[in-house]
Amino acid sequence: MATPPPPPPPPSPSTPVPEINLTADLRHRLATADRAVVFTGAGVSQESGLATFRGGDDSLWSQYRPEELATPQAFAAHPDRVWQWYGWRHAGVAGASPNAGHHALVRFEALFPSYLLVTQNVDGLHQQAGSRGVVELHGTIRQACCSNSRTGACDRRMDMGKALERSPETPPRCECGGRLRPAVVWFGEPLPQGVMERAAAAAGRADLFLVVGTSATVYPAAGLIEIAHRAGAVVVEVNPEPSALSRLADLRVQAPAAAALPALEREVRRCRPTAT
Ligand SMILES: [Zn+2]
Repeated sequence: MATPPPPPPPPSPSTPVPEINLTADLRHRLATADRAVVFTGAGVSQESGLATFRGGDDSLWSQYRPEELATPQAFAAHPDRVWQWYGWRHAGVAGASPNAGHHALVRFEALFPSYLLVTQNVDGLHQQAGSRGVVELHGTIRQACCSNSRTGACDRRMDMGKALERSPETPPRCECGGRLRPAVVWFGEPLPQGVMERAAAAAGRADLFLVVGTSATVYPAAGLIEIAHRAGAVVVEVNPEPSALSRLADLRVQAPAAAALPALEREVRRCRPTAT
């Protein structure tokens, strides 16, 4: 039995509520959907006031591209620099709060007997809002893990905030001697074991596949939408801009997630009176 979702937060007065026009066919398909998969990207966190991935012009970090910092090679060559960059990013995430989009997805979860939230984000804001069973494709910035975890030699992890507190300038050492690092997936690294398989299996069984705030042009993430589409799921895209996926979408809501998701959740709930 699902716990009742928290009450919706008041909508931001500055955000216009997008109109969502469902056809009779879509209403019927949404009313009878049992298995929902939601796939989110950076767009869902944009209105949480998070520091952007790239630093501003006056930022200490503006001289580096993420590709030069978020790689195992960069960490091996400049561990302190990479650790401090993640300290800066962690501070932004730790100070951010979930927005109306994250909260709407918590209520969305309660509408379906089977639900899986797959995210490319590493900020942990879905869990902070109250979403359960989140699959983090790219790991999490909220935790540090041992560098030797990549070879399977050590699986120690600790809270990233605590690790940074212990050693803000240089990555602390694990008991095994390896350096601690953020538990995120860096460029050129494989995804955590099993996460893609789990996401793909859920996409293949989905009746509804909702894509939020990502152009998902990068494989294997883009493949999930194709799997769901082929399996006959209703594909809904929430994104301010059209994307390469738009052609697969049965419904497109062209608005930021924080405005679109509460409106979409309300519409879907109306289609499913028994689920409320
Ligand atoms: Zn270790």
